[in-house]
Amino acid sequence: MNLSEIIEGLNDKQHQSVTLDDQKNALILAGAGSGKTRVLTHRIAYLVTQKNIHIDAILAVTFTNKAAKEMRERLSMLLRRPIMSMWVGTFHGLAHRLLRTHYVQANLTQQFQILDQQDQFRIIKRLMKENNIDEAKFPVRKIQWFINQQKDEGIHPADIDAGYNYFIKQGIKVFEIYEDHCKANDLIDFAELLVRSYELLKNNVELLSHYQNRFKHILVDEFQDTNTVQYQWIKLLSTNDNQVFCVGDDDQSIYGWRGAKIENIQKLEIDFNPIQTIRLEQNYRSTGNILGASNALIANNSNRLGKSLWTDSGAGDPIDVFEARTETDEADFVVSSIQKLLDEGASPNECAILYRSNAQSRAFEERLIKYNVPYIIYGGLRFFERSEIKDALCYLRLMENTEDSVAFERVVNFPTRGIGNATVEKVREFATNNHTNLFQAAITIVPTLPTRASNALSGFIQLIEQMSDDAKHLDLSEKVALLIKESGLIHHYSNDKTDKAGSKKENLEELIAAAKQYNHEQDSEMNEVMGFISLASLDSSGDTSAPEHQNVQLMTIHSAKGLEFPYVFLTGMEEDLFPSRQSKDEPHLMDEERRLCYVGMTRAMKKLTLSFAIKRFLHGQSLYAYPSRFLDEIPSEYLNSIKQKFGATAQNYKDDDIFNQDIEPEGQGQLSIGVTVKHAKFGFGTVLNFEGDGDSARIQIKFKKAGTKWLISSYANLEFV
Ligand code: ATP
Ligand code: MG
Repeated sequence: MNLSEIIEGLNDKQHQSVTLDDQKNALILAGAGSGKTRVLTHRIAYLVTQKNIHIDAILAVTFTNKAAKEMRERLSMLLRRPIMSMWVGTFHGLAHRLLRTHYVQANLTQQFQILDQQDQFRIIKRLMKENNIDEAKFPVRKIQWFINQQKDEGIHPADIDAGYNYFIKQGIKVFEIYEDHCKANDLIDFAELLVRSYELLKNNVELLSHYQNRFKHILVDEFQDTNTVQYQWIKLLSTNDNQVFCVGDDDQSIYGWRGAKIENIQKLEIDFNPIQTIRLEQNYRSTGNILGASNALIANNSNRLGKSLWTDSGAGDPIDVFEARTETDEADFVVSSIQKLLDEGASPNECAILYRSNAQSRAFEERLIKYNVPYIIYGGLRFFERSEIKDALCYLRLMENTEDSVAFERVVNFPTRGIGNATVEKVREFATNNHTNLFQAAITIVPTLPTRASNALSGFIQLIEQMSDDAKHLDLSEKVALLIKESGLIHHYSNDKTDKAGSKKENLEELIAAAKQYNHEQDSEMNEVMGFISLASLDSSGDTSAPEHQNVQLMTIHSAKGLEFPYVFLTGMEEDLFPSRQSKDEPHLMDEERRLCYVGMTRAMKKLTLSFAIKRFLHGQSLYAYPSRFLDEIPSEYLNSIKQKFGATAQNYKDDDIFNQDIEPEGQGQLSIGVTVKHAKFGFGTVLNFEGDGDSARIQIKFKKAGTKWLISSYANLEFV
């Protein structure tokens, strides 16, 4: 492939970035949709084909597994050859690869297992119980959060000074117990993957210099969301003889709550000196209206590195803003708008529904099912996190390695086979006292148990042994098929009355398909089964295994990072939801919410629709809400507001009239609960309740700024908005 093919179609700044010499490090700083990811990919192609850099000399870090997969595919297309062995992946994926390759130096055994968030939660909960730490006073989630926060900073229990803080004291205690447990059982949680691989390099001079020499080019996408350990890891690998090439956008830093440090991209220019910064300014993704609105919104944040973005793609449609009465109406509107797009020839996967919190997806799902629109949910309960999938994988883990006690705990009595808690407790106790794993402990104590318990437990042991034996000469997908059947899982889920749609059974079948598609080459540091198991746990760290079929895409804004869709519906634009309630008193959290909104809006290519509901049922209660402040921050010239027609149904949304601008709802000016009113002194408010009618009506109004008040209609002089 020649140079002109690589640089074809790039603008000057992109061209310059792709073909930079490697004397200095580089930061490509640019707003959304300006081609950062594209530059990164083309730069790798440039290095390999024009500068004869071996693909093994390149380390490329992406933000999600999906992005890594796309990068591999794009590169192998650009380079016209397979590049399976190349080090492209997420920080977690690459750290894992490093630990598998050097497990001895990392003080691990070859069989070490990865704990996902759920596993971690269960273990912490059990350890707290065993150590009589009161869950009521020290909620497991908070403790788990505390531990992970420390790890994201690379901090060990011994490094923390609790002072007089009792919570932190207990946190440290659990942290210590948990660390010991993980060490003894060869377990690595997500945060530990990073810490451990960082320390592996830091404490092994030879290994470090090997990788420093090897990776001549280190490229990092979405740099604004690196946490402390990730930053240090890159810093460690960086020398005078290699080049660090980072791309990012400080306005899109949205993982502060998970330890990401927006300052990292600001520090980069000092810490990685000499460095050259290039700014890309043309946006290729969105229409002028979408871009203008997004730029105006993000201008409300302070401490930005600042950049200007323009597009020559024309203004396009205005941004629709839909006001719904309830979340159901919102879903109705969004789904019928999508149907309309589909009728006009759009394909489902061109449409995305984005939301702030996973719990919002339910209303959309119900409507999509009702109107028979195919859809897929990213994130939320990811495929590999679903309980039926984890059950199956735990059987696979046990078959591969009976020392895997996490897996043992999960499936020893699932599907139920008459092994009670008391029996499992005995197994645990024996294992702890004799420093052995649960499976071995079970084998040993079987003869000592009462007949019933003994039979049940030995039944389980035989099942695992028999399955391992039967599976010996099978390939991976056949192994999965076998265990799903013999373990009784498929039978169990086929009869599961709570699973009306049969989706659990289907998911288990999908797992066989996933095993078939699994490409072992890229994880050649371990055997095929272990590779597959690790993939499954790592996949749940960020994104889904997303079948790219013809589906409407549903996801949180967080998971939409880096992606783009022609039609985007950004929903739930309400105070206390987006921005979230927690962010209200904390300016830095509010800034992060605003960046999140910027990320959501800039996913849209052709058409963006924003929506909010006046009344929303969420987390078990129904609450009135004000439109998000972010709506106010977008100049009205970009917006086209649509109000819900009273009594409207999804069907008549499809009739064009509802899409007309500013339709007056019937009964406008009349009192009803939920309508927005304006008072000369108190400003905007929502009607919560009223008594009587006409001029003598008493109305209870929740004002945005002035709180809740009862007013008499004739004096209040309310304007119905
Ligand atoms: P984000 O900040 O959201 O991660 P980004 O800066 O990484 O965005 P890309 O995803 O690389 O942007 O590019 C956005 C879109 O613009 C893609 O569809 C890409 O193919 C297209 N694009 C980028 N550069 C050009 C160009 N020079 N000519 C035409 N299209 C381009
Ligand atoms: Mg990108």
